[in-house]
Amino acid sequence: MLPAYLKFCFGAMGCGKTRKLQGDYFSKIEDNFETIIMKPVIDKKADDKTLARDGKELRVDLLIEPDTNVYLLIANYLIEHNLDFILIDEAQFLSKRQIEELSDVVDILGINVICYGLRTDFRGELFEGSKRLFEMADPIEAITRQCSCGNNKTYNMRIANGVPIFSGEQIAIDGIDATYQSLCRKCYKNAKKKTLSRNTNGK
Ligand SMILES: [Zn+2]
Repeated sequence: MLPAYLKFCFGAMGCGKTRKLQGDYFSKIEDNFETIIMKPVIDKKADDKTLARDGKELRVDLLIEPDTNVYLLIANYLIEHNLDFILIDEAQFLSKRQIEELSDVVDILGINVICYGLRTDFRGELFEGSKRLFEMADPIEAITRQCSCGNNKTYNMRIANGVPIFSGEQIAIDGIDATYQSLCRKCYKNAKKKTLSRNTNGK
């Protein structure tokens, strides 16, 4: 049998990461691999137990809290279950330590782990989990979609009250009703320039 791997599939928002996870899940199940879905808890109020996109809904088997030791969680799970693949949605929200624990799940427990997540936040800077995945994962796969200008979308622009914003917390917290638009680097920079000059002129 081939050695297990830690894989990272990354992309901007709306590029089809969750759809890819769902496709991978069903093909692993069809091939008779024991497969589970995991996800970090981001918002306690949100329905973290399901992944829904395009009307398809999938149950999340295990949630990862910020203080979860992922290696121990999986080691415990293995007492009563067999496992070949772990698919993890929103992996950018895992901590550096949790990514390292996942690498032990691969290297010590021999289970394949595939992480799906964003490369960068709305400021264009790496998430902690994604940074560690770029350092440790192999293989790494880009999931891309084209911007209206033809470049690949790589940036996630945060929009609050209809206006793009470029500073603030990495994760939008309660009280901020943020949406996101994915763009290529060039269009993101143009939007930022336009917004900043409008703000300066308005003062
Ligand atoms: Zn563009």
